[in-house]
Amino acid sequence: MSQGKRTFLVLLGVPGAGKGTQARLLESDLGLPQISTGDIFRYNLKNDTELGLLAKSYMDKGDLVPDDVTIRMVEDRLQREDCAGGAIMDGFPRNLFQARAFDAMTADSGGVSLVPMITISDEEAMRRITGRRVCRSCGEVYHVEFNPPKQEGICDKDGGELYLRNDDTPETVRNRLYVYYKQTSPLVGYYFAHDLLFEIDGNRAIETVQTELKTLLAGGEKVT
Ligand SMILES: [Zn+2]
Repeated sequence: MSQGKRTFLVLLGVPGAGKGTQARLLESDLGLPQISTGDIFRYNLKNDTELGLLAKSYMDKGDLVPDDVTIRMVEDRLQREDCAGGAIMDGFPRNLFQARAFDAMTADSGGVSLVPMITISDEEAMRRITGRRVCRSCGEVYHVEFNPPKQEGICDKDGGELYLRNDDTPETVRNRLYVYYKQTSPLVGYYFAHDLLFEIDGNRAIETVQTELKTLLAGGEKVT
């Protein structure tokens, strides 16, 4: 791919730090799509693409999808027209191997532009994720502490039952944090060494974090 300079943001942060939320808020502001591996997987599986079927063959065996398959899906996604100006990466790259591959695939258009790292404590991550409750019938997301339903355990919209997803139980969150520290946290050093890393305190209101991100992207003060 040989194109002009594009903007590629890589958002880093533990699960629950708010990467997805912040990426979605930035989309319209920057005119760049948010790209999450979850969305890419769902797209390829739903459309039975060659890569989707390949990924499925691993998942059916209970194996992890290999990095090179994930990397090819991302590469494929970046060819789409909405990525002409770049993209906001949410959950990719998640290890050093993927980070090097991402550098290679964006090299022609200037490489990674900036890596905002949203930091929160493990306790805060735990509190945010394990407090989530999802409606069984409409999928609306609540939080026992920050966004409780009017009546405990019941959806305000349709009276559906609220439940704790398997992904959000304390055991799973502990494991997700472990995987992050083991596989993804080396990227902190990697991007720091490339002078691309900026730390943002994520223990604050969504709007405050968003404002700081925008200031950073506008070329404001270096945060760290
Ligand atoms: Zn509902």
